[in-house]
Amino acid sequence: QTTQHAEVVIIGAGPAGAIAAALLRQQGRQVLVLERETFPRFSIGESLLPQSMAYIEEAGLLQDVVEAGFQYKNGAVFARGLDATTFFDFRDKWAKGWGTTYQVQRGNFDKVLADGAARAGAQIRYQQTVLAADVDSDTPSLRVKDNASGDEYTVTCRFVLDASGFGRVLPRLLDLETPSAFPVRGAIFTHVEDRIAVNSGFDRNKILITTHPEHEDVWYWTIPFSNGHCSLGVVAESAFLARYPGTEMERLQAAVAEAPNLKALLADAQWNIPARQITGYAANVKSLYGKHFALLGNAGEFLDPVFSSGVTIAMTSASLAAKALGRMLDGETVDWSADYAVPLKRGVDAFRAFVTAWYDGRFQKLIYFKGKNDDIRRMISSILAGYAWDESNPCVRAPERWLAALDSAVSM
Ligand code: FAD
Repeated sequence: QTTQHAEVVIIGAGPAGAIAAALLRQQGRQVLVLERETFPRFSIGESLLPQSMAYIEEAGLLQDVVEAGFQYKNGAVFARGLDATTFFDFRDKWAKGWGTTYQVQRGNFDKVLADGAARAGAQIRYQQTVLAADVDSDTPSLRVKDNASGDEYTVTCRFVLDASGFGRVLPRLLDLETPSAFPVRGAIFTHVEDRIAVNSGFDRNKILITTHPEHEDVWYWTIPFSNGHCSLGVVAESAFLARYPGTEMERLQAAVAEAPNLKALLADAQWNIPARQITGYAANVKSLYGKHFALLGNAGEFLDPVFSSGVTIAMTSASLAAKALGRMLDGETVDWSADYAVPLKRGVDAFRAFVTAWYDGRFQKLIYFKGKNDDIRRMISSILAGYAWDESNPCVRAPERWLAALDSAVSM
């Protein structure tokens, strides 16, 4: 059959696609997910935020995630040099809601979500690459290639959700791409068997973010997994990363050697898995929706990895879009700007303010400042836990004003 039909087609079975598929199945929609790869497949983005648990729960996938045995996570540690260390416990935060989550090997995690969506009745076809799209006519259609046979076919539908992540299928095909306002940064990363001693004081229940001792816009992630391995990466502007010679592994090892806390922590680590580099991942679009489509997760905007907000934003977008689409398919008029793009961007913009303030130093100054009172600490803990849509939190409601006020207080 060269033309097939589905009520909703979702491009990509990552977190955005799988959560959207499961939510649409709860409404009884017929959902076809087209995924280019076979799962499990590698993906970067391994540290979740507690806010994401609400969407996993909403999609009916909580038990699947809890039973998968991922590393429990309850906070974040920040370290600069050997003596500036501070931590946030996400259970002690301003917002209500989940205070714990997981650190996940994304291959397994994404498969758990996608299998859950399939169990709920979504049809997920792997090894299918979306090549072209016509979303202007009354019946949108996608041109799809079956990777195994090379055969091409057309799928028509009522609505397309693009959850293709860094594949950015519709932004590319529909000329929606706009550059991110952030400078071009990159990351070099791998997984190491960390062999960190139990008595080292290292807390495996928290992500460790390390600031480079001399360059405060350069930072490292250390994300422990439940199998004795850590995900380890360094992030910097591309020009900075270019100064490390050699293989990706040698370059990452050289960068790690410059951070004394990491050098000591990983002294016995086994570096068995080749490192890789990814550059220029920050991206934006002119519009998050059109008449017959919406862009979810990374297919829309991607800010920066520093606060591990990517999967949370992806799931928030899936939840908002599934609600708006459900009403539209029921015949209601949906204002995709007011019901989807604006509410989604509210949280993304709060994260953006903190990403900007991380790199220009204001937020780091506050994070490492020892004299924070409990309320300020809880407000920060809340945004770091992903509650960027909680307008009861002053640092979400007016991030710039909040940052400016604290910057002057901390500088005094
Ligand atoms: P994805 O997870 O990328 O899923 C998209 C899917 O679409 C893929 O499976 C892909 O195969 C499929 N696809 C692509 N093209 C096509 C096509 N043409 N046809 C069919 N299918 C297609 N986020 C966090 O939450 N925590 C972190 O710690 C974190 N760290 C990060 C570190 C770095 C260096 C970077 C760059 C990002 C990080 N992120 C992190 C962000 C995270 O990786 C993404 O935000 C998240 O994976 C987005 O989910 P998604 O569902 O939108 O897309």
